[in-house]
Amino acid sequence: MRITVLGSGTSTGVPMIGCHCPVCSSDDLRDRRSRCSIVVHYQNRHILVDTTPELRLQAIAARLDRIDAVVFTHAHADHIFGLDDVRRYNTILGSPLPIYAAEDTLVALERIFPYAFIKQQDAGFFRPALAPNRISGPFDLFGVSWRPIPLLHARGAVLGFRIGDFAYCTDCSDFPESSLDQLRNLQTLIIDALRPRPHPAHLSFAQALTLIDRLQPQQAYFTHLSHDVSHAQAEAGLPPRVRLCYDGLTITIPRV
Ligand SMILES: [Zn+2]
Ligand SMILES: [Zn+2]
Ligand SMILES: [Zn+2]
Repeated sequence: MRITVLGSGTSTGVPMIGCHCPVCSSDDLRDRRSRCSIVVHYQNRHILVDTTPELRLQAIAARLDRIDAVVFTHAHADHIFGLDDVRRYNTILGSPLPIYAAEDTLVALERIFPYAFIKQQDAGFFRPALAPNRISGPFDLFGVSWRPIPLLHARGAVLGFRIGDFAYCTDCSDFPESSLDQLRNLQTLIIDALRPRPHPAHLSFAQALTLIDRLQPQQAYFTHLSHDVSHAQAEAGLPPRVRLCYDGLTITIPRV
């Protein structure tokens, strides 16, 4: 299994509009962060997690010529506003695209993109054509089980996902105990860590490190990074098994 990090930035993206701080002005390409998304690749299938406002640019940069399904974590703008761009994949696939989301996320998607859920003759060309699936427990995607992991995101609910030895937990401020129990023995964990300072809706570096200490994955990566984080400086201060995501990072997981 392979993971491509399409985007590693917080909801504003980095650089932020109108900010000229050292990170927003950095020449290090790893400090240029589009909104958070990954692709999970296995058995010649490509599963996109979230459709960010930069989906088109991310897909071109990663040469993501095909996706077979989309899985959503939650319905915040930075995770869904690129949904319209998936119509290119409808054209390439020649069929509706399966999407998977919790009930509240599906309701929000239908409210915000009503035209994508109506069966139209031109669906798949001028409008996305979607085959919605409600997540209510572990589900199978192309022969591999995806386990939804409930996470807390301030007062909202978000889904993390465990796929074999890998888990993706973006946009969270806390993990319920029952969710921690489902994240043991991971090879790789990607976890929200917005910045060193606390934030009501996201884990700080210290909070994420505490969770990593409890869960003991072999490797962890921070994501949803803000402009408070200089890639090079921050990584220098982290233990070797904790690294930072950057746009375009690929991670190989030995087993699914
Ligand atoms: Zn977000
Ligand atoms: Zn800045
Ligand atoms: Zn969010």
